[in-house]
Amino acid sequence: MNLIEQNRYYKTDIFIDINGNIYKNKIFKIENGHVKFFEKVEKKEIIELNSIVFPSFVNAHTHLELTNINKSDLNFSSFVDWVISLIKEKRKKDEKFFLNSYLKGKNLLNNYGIYAFGNILSPFLYDKIPENDKEFNFVEIIEYNKNNIENINLNYPKVSPHSFFSVHPDLIEKILKLNKPISIHFFESKEEYEYLIHNRGDIPEKLYSFTNLKPLKYNLDYFLNFLKKVQNVQLVHLCNLPEDLKPLIIKRKNELHFTLCPRSNKKFGLKSPYYFFIKNNIPFSLGTDSLCSNDDLNVVNEAKFIFEDLKDEFDKEQLAKILFLCLTKWGYKSIFLNTIIYVYISNFTSYNNFYFYDFLEYHSIMNKN
Ligand SMILES: [Zn+2]
Repeated sequence: MNLIEQNRYYKTDIFIDINGNIYKNKIFKIENGHVKFFEKVEKKEIIELNSIVFPSFVNAHTHLELTNINKSDLNFSSFVDWVISLIKEKRKKDEKFFLNSYLKGKNLLNNYGIYAFGNILSPFLYDKIPENDKEFNFVEIIEYNKNNIENINLNYPKVSPHSFFSVHPDLIEKILKLNKPISIHFFESKEEYEYLIHNRGDIPEKLYSFTNLKPLKYNLDYFLNFLKKVQNVQLVHLCNLPEDLKPLIIKRKNELHFTLCPRSNKKFGLKSPYYFFIKNNIPFSLGTDSLCSNDDLNVVNEAKFIFEDLKDEFDKEQLAKILFLCLTKWGYKSIFLNTIIYVYISNFTSYNNFYFYDFLEYHSIMNKN
């Protein structure tokens, strides 16, 4: 997998644009992240690719700084047990560990041909990561203590109030008022649902007694109101979404952004709601979450996971095309990235009969490491 450079003329066999349109034998140039096609260009100026050119796939939700945490040190018996064991492991590590993990994770993504990503990043790493990476990062805010809200630095282009169970509602309110792109974990687990809707379960009983926090009272009306008014938000997971919120998700499908991580959810016995999204024509993107809850960071494997599950329910080529959009167009949108990064692979064998599924398959075979 190689990157297409900006402002140079290329000629390629197949060009797939951000809407999944396929063009054959085109001369093109990328300017400011946008494609321009040309009829005639002087031959010596053209780089001949004989390849397939397409928008880099997007891993829309990951935590690269956790790449080097040892999964076998974590407790998978329940979602909350896992969170507690992860907090314990993180407390043993220093800044250098997390920076190295971030860089290693990014390298893994690039090896899979994935150059665009939505990463959740600890504030202390923001000044340490490469300058060009900053547009891919939501700076993570975890603060549940009301007395500390005043001192929180929110001066980043994109922020991630981690979740409703780890950030005080007043702080979420304050972040929403800033009107910048945000990413938030949203009804990922059964425990999250139990706490946010019924104020009970493992989050108040186990997690808050471990972290010395006092449960706050959320309810369904709070979330109905949240979904009605919120702007520029990426909601992640949605495995245990209350039924009453679903009409709003459908109604605001083109204003809100949704990212699903089916393989990570499966590690906790949770079912990602991709069927509901596809059935209702709701655009969504795909993420892997971190290596602490997944086998790899190759987001194409999330698409293949969904394909395998739903291939008998939908037209296969139609399904593969939707998954291509999940990996590209809707991925870029969900991480609020305006410029598209184009890549190419050579030797794709079925140029004459282009099938999205073959292409996804080929992409992941090419990048197995
Ligand atoms: Zn996550």
